Amino acid sequence: MKTIGVLGGMSWESSLEWYRLANERVAARLGGYHSARVILDSLDFAEIEAMQARDDWDAAGGLLADRARALENAGADLLVLATNTMHLVADRITDAVGIPFLHIADAAGAAVSAAGVETVGLLGTAFTMEKPFYAERLAAQGIRTIVPEADDRRTVHDIIYGELVHGVVRDESRRSYVEVVDRLIARGAQGVILGCTEIELLLSAGDVSVPVFPTTALHVDAAVDAALAD
Ligand code: GLU
Repeated sequence: MKTIGVLGGMSWESSLEWYRLANERVAARLGGYHSARVILDSLDFAEIEAMQARDDWDAAGGLLADRARALENAGADLLVLATNTMHLVADRITDAVGIPFLHIADAAGAAVSAAGVETVGLLGTAFTMEKPFYAERLAAQGIRTIVPEADDRRTVHDIIYGELVHGVVRDESRRSYVEVVDRLIARGAQGVILGCTEIELLLSAGDVSVPVFPTTALHVDAAVDAALAD
């Protein structure tokens, strides 16, 4: 089994989920006492959030590239970045290491395509919904992306930073997300990507009437597949 290097802590609430799912997947695949081989570098989210807030993606890219190199030097055979937003600087990471990097939007896109969904709604932070990096990655896989209107984007973003990254999960916020998804469906979304690693702590498949694509779980699946491949 290969060792998965995880750039995590963005937020740690979702990294906990990532770690739990990875171990469950490996145990399900290999049985017995097997568990995932993981090196987790859990960053201080306050540093990352401050760089995001001041739009300093160069500093964020430098920091993540350094930490990616450290994971490679520590023995990771492959690398994941356990947040959607920070894939904005994915190129800085891939430039810094020689080991494979599994892009979260590729894991999401593969599941969207496999479900036969051509137009997908995207929920995430304002960065993920408004900057082109994520939708372009999906477009390269033949997928059309639509994002919520401005007021709904604000609601989705504020619930992530005000609640979910602090482990706060509220029924009222779930209802807000369901309403946002309903408006995306009315505009043509045939499915919805939970494009922020905390959203699946709030929303699950049974809550909405179209297929959902939970990026933490899909990313774990891709990483475990790669780790267990010959
Ligand atoms: N975990 C979130 C994501 O998947 C947001 C936190 C962050 O900005 O890294 O985008």
